Amino acid sequence: MEISAPRGTKDIMPDSSSHWQYVERTAREVCRAYGYREIRTPVFEHTELFLRGIGETTDIVQKEMYTFTDKGGRSITLRPENTAGTVRAYLEHKLYGESQPSKLYYIGPMFRYDKPQAGRFRQFHQFGIEAIGSPGPIVDAEIILAAVEFFTRLGLKDLNLFINSVGCPKCRPVYRAKIQDALRGSLGEFCEDCRSRFDRNPMRILDCKNEKCQQLSKDAPRLADCLCDECRDHFAGLQTVLTAAGVDYQLNPRLVRGLDYYTKTAFEIQYPPLGAQSAVCGGGRYDGLIEEIGGSPTPAIGYAIGLERVILALEKQGLLPSTETGIAVFVAAFDDKTRVQAFKLAAELRKAGLACEMDYLGRGLKAQLKQANRYPARFVAIIGEEEAAQNKVALKNMQTGEQQLVDAGQVEQKIRAEMED
Ligand SMILES: [Zn+2]
Ligand SMILES: [Zn+2]
Repeated sequence: MEISAPRGTKDIMPDSSSHWQYVERTAREVCRAYGYREIRTPVFEHTELFLRGIGETTDIVQKEMYTFTDKGGRSITLRPENTAGTVRAYLEHKLYGESQPSKLYYIGPMFRYDKPQAGRFRQFHQFGIEAIGSPGPIVDAEIILAAVEFFTRLGLKDLNLFINSVGCPKCRPVYRAKIQDALRGSLGEFCEDCRSRFDRNPMRILDCKNEKCQQLSKDAPRLADCLCDECRDHFAGLQTVLTAAGVDYQLNPRLVRGLDYYTKTAFEIQYPPLGAQSAVCGGGRYDGLIEEIGGSPTPAIGYAIGLERVILALEKQGLLPSTETGIAVFVAAFDDKTRVQAFKLAAELRKAGLACEMDYLGRGLKAQLKQANRYPARFVAIIGEEEAAQNKVALKNMQTGEQQLVDAGQVEQKIRAEMED
């Protein structure tokens, strides 16, 4: 029986891996410009990290984690996101002792046992940024700008940026009580999810996707009207900096985040042509998380971008670069004897940095030339019986059709010279 890839996973084949490299390279270039340095943390962590770092009441922890006991009896989980791992590494390596904020980024696979559907996988990939150690709001604006820059460099225009403030542990309880008072009377009409959120996390009712719930909560009090002075100043500061930088944004009071450790800035970037899956970047401030994981209180902000969706968007818009398959030279051999010389020449050309191919199946000369055209190759170096005897190579320029006899030692120079023309 043939074994296929597990449900919810996807092979990235050579034809599309160049697309991934392009998107990843763009992310790295933007991070370099903005001063973010790459961190690579393990793909699995102690389960405890995610229980504390994501929250035991979340869907991720309750339903979606790949958790197992390893042979040493430890509970291990494949990372469902990478903020917790990054913060763990920040504490473990005492980055707080270095100049702050620590500006970090990551690119890599994440794992969630989710229902696979268009654009959603069980192994998926994220590019994310975390800025740890600054209370903002300048750094908040900076990471938003870096995200916008990433999408812009890829050619994705007409993005919608939504921002909100979710307050802090000082002002949020006041708001919670207000929203509970406002919705209590009509609670029976809300969906089941919303009813269960009412006590635990009433703010989440605002981002219910159910239309009826949205209608019912339309006139609910807004957190922006209940912010404490500190949060209000912070939110105003963020808007001032974004406006100064010429970034278009919209206020979205329904943009909330579920957990207590999220504070102040929350934002989302949408790319409308993707329809139901239009959110391409989500992030926000999490000033309470580092304490949750065992460090001293430290302000921080970050976001994650789902790369599958980005690639889907680029594909839809025809913005992916074409896959490069061409090579500089194909070394063709006349028979088994000259094949050894062909191998030697190919090795020398490759060492000199030229993309070089040869035949591996014992094909005849005619079939080899056909093969060379398929790549396509700019040059074919033919080693025939006579040429081999004189230590020479017949070098054919496939664009002009010209052929000349060249010393074996001169092939690289000849190719380079003609390629420059
Ligand atoms: Zn506050
Ligand atoms: Zn609902």
